[in-house]
Amino acid sequence: MNEENFRLSERLVSSSYVRQGSQARRSHEQLIRHLLEQGKCPEEGWSESTVELLLSELAVMDSNNFLGNCGVGEREGRVASGLVARRHYRLIHGIGRSGDIAAVQPKAAGSSLLNKLTNSVVLDILKLSGVRSVASCFVVPMATGMSLTLCFLTLRHRRPKARFIVWPRIDQKSCFKAMITAGFEPVVVENVLEGDELRTDLEAVERKIEELGAENVLCVHSTTSCFAPRVPDRLEELAVLCSKHDIPHVVNNAYGVQSSKCMHLIQQGSRVGRIDAFVQSLDKNFMVPVGGAIIAGFNEAFIQEISKMYPGRASASPSLDVLITLLTLGAGGYKKLLSERKEVFSFLAEELKTLASAHGERLLHTPHNPISLAVSLDGLQAASDGAVTQLGSMLFTRQVSGARVVPLGQEQTVGGHTFRGFMSHSDRYPCPYLNAASAVGITRGDVTLCVKRLDKCLKALKKENASSRQDDTAGE
Ligand SMILES: *Cc1c(COP(=O)(O)O)cnc(C)c1O
Repeated sequence: MNEENFRLSERLVSSSYVRQGSQARRSHEQLIRHLLEQGKCPEEGWSESTVELLLSELAVMDSNNFLGNCGVGEREGRVASGLVARRHYRLIHGIGRSGDIAAVQPKAAGSSLLNKLTNSVVLDILKLSGVRSVASCFVVPMATGMSLTLCFLTLRHRRPKARFIVWPRIDQKSCFKAMITAGFEPVVVENVLEGDELRTDLEAVERKIEELGAENVLCVHSTTSCFAPRVPDRLEELAVLCSKHDIPHVVNNAYGVQSSKCMHLIQQGSRVGRIDAFVQSLDKNFMVPVGGAIIAGFNEAFIQEISKMYPGRASASPSLDVLITLLTLGAGGYKKLLSERKEVFSFLAEELKTLASAHGERLLHTPHNPISLAVSLDGLQAASDGAVTQLGSMLFTRQVSGARVVPLGQEQTVGGHTFRGFMSHSDRYPCPYLNAASAVGITRGDVTLCVKRLDKCLKALKKENASSRQDDTAGE
């Protein structure tokens, strides 16, 4: 309601009550004003009623909600189902125009504003999570793999001769396919084993660059967040290498926003060397449905170039989801989630260590991985051939999701490239193992329950193996 309507209301309800109501409304509006002024994530989370007020104010600015609108175009934001309209808060036009995902749509001032606000709030969160000097970012309604593809395709225009992407190996199919889909040839650089950890082989990366010729290399594609015993790539050194050879550097930071270590690596990399873009998943970092990613970088012009590569308009849903989430959590709420995650990580490490030693295994020593842990399964492997994979299926039936069992000697061909020791980021990792991760939103309860079930499974397997050995002896 505006001033005039409040005045009219005083004819019907006592003016002191109406005044109180109008002040209450003003306090919601102050929060919205602050957001528009600063473009930052509010420190304190908003109530759902403030968020809904903002969204309905945005929606009435879009032409599909104009009362007098008569549409004779081919895209009028018509929606047949009321349920669908409500699911999107009546923001139907999406974001961008045919030429640029960041462009303003004349038909949809509200959706355009939503898009700008989201990108600005997300940029604030990236800064506050550790990449202080990030210059620009935008939300794309595609998951991480496709967003990486978009970055590679943009670089193609700058480096028309380049055919290769130098990629320190990480056994995750979508980031590998991101390069193939963009039409490039991934040059896989095996990792080196240091203690239990698998780390970037810097010399091998440089050798590859020299062998191929820098101008034939589109970029170096590195990774922060990954399953242990692989650890985040040596980003600073890679960034220096890229700057020395004048090669672009794209970082896959899939679930790295939640880790101050991963974010610090990106910040440092850009300080001492070269990082052109870093890409992160919305669902893995911000607890929203799958569907979006953030493409960010240190040079605003380059990030704009990527957003201009996107052909056509795009769904506003991922932007809407992350904006609602960040306004509801507030910067304080998000930081709290991150510090809880870190605490649970230490708890998970302790619990796994205890469990491992009780079963004659050990927690692999991977101090450079801030999110994922690995427990050896040597004893299980020795007991029986199929026991390691059996553990995997037992955990699955017992609803332990995310625990990942990695047997030795798997082979997998992805996009024409055969990976030996697939899943383990290495041709020959010395032992099979089990992964568990502490990702944003995890609770101590998740850890306790998972470790309890894991313990049960390991005991059951031990028993089974013991009795089958007895059967064997009995038959001799
Ligand atoms: C999740 C993830 C990706 C991308 O997967 P999408 O489904 O495309 O989001 C890429 N690399 C790593 C390391 C990942 O964890």
